[in-house]
Amino acid sequence: MSGNLVLDVLTENVKKLSNNNNNNNNNVWHDDVLTEEDKAILEKEANSDPTFDKLQLRKKLNDEFINGQAVTIVKKTNNARIVILTSDTQQTYPWGLWAKIFEWFGTPTSGDLWQVYLYASGSKRILPSQGVPVGPEHLNGGYTYACKSDCIVIYRYEEATRVLIHELLHAACTDNHTNHVTLKEAATEAWAELILVALLSKGNKMKACELWNIQDH
Ligand SMILES: [Zn+2]
Repeated sequence: MSGNLVLDVLTENVKKLSNNNNNNNNNVWHDDVLTEEDKAILEKEANSDPTFDKLQLRKKLNDEFINGQAVTIVKKTNNARIVILTSDTQQTYPWGLWAKIFEWFGTPTSGDLWQVYLYASGSKRILPSQGVPVGPEHLNGGYTYACKSDCIVIYRYEEATRVLIHELLHAACTDNHTNHVTLKEAATEAWAELILVALLSKGNKMKACELWNIQDH
């Protein structure tokens, strides 16, 4: 397959990341504490506009947290901090992969840290029955404020890594704001998938190509 120049370049980038990691501890996660500010943000976002989160996954998890049925996991690296809210102790998180993603994105332009709030809801994306239009409640999994690094929200456990990259791209100001929102979303999603495939290939071009061909896009 031709036309994988972009993937080749991204895969080369991943090799550089791996080399860097041998020489520093930048990508190490440390446990951090949940602050009152975190709790206020979790509460505020849980109760914000449900247009995209029609199933109110954020609110359900935050309510469970308040009732003692969900817990938080808080971790930090040199340039990122993640607060996870979950009611499922069986969930695992790809910390090593996430560290590489943040290393790739570097320091945000709008602050010191990429701050992520992950409401790790187990609710899966389910396509509607035939004839019912696909709405945001079936697909969406996150949102952020363009060009701001301090509140990246993800509200599904499923595909959290792809959603993380997608939202980081928005937060990193990569959108061309002269484009229509549909085009901006499509472009962001294409880049997120390419970056994810390059990372999962661990710098191997053939593997990246294989992954790209089987990725559902
Ligand atoms: Zn988007």
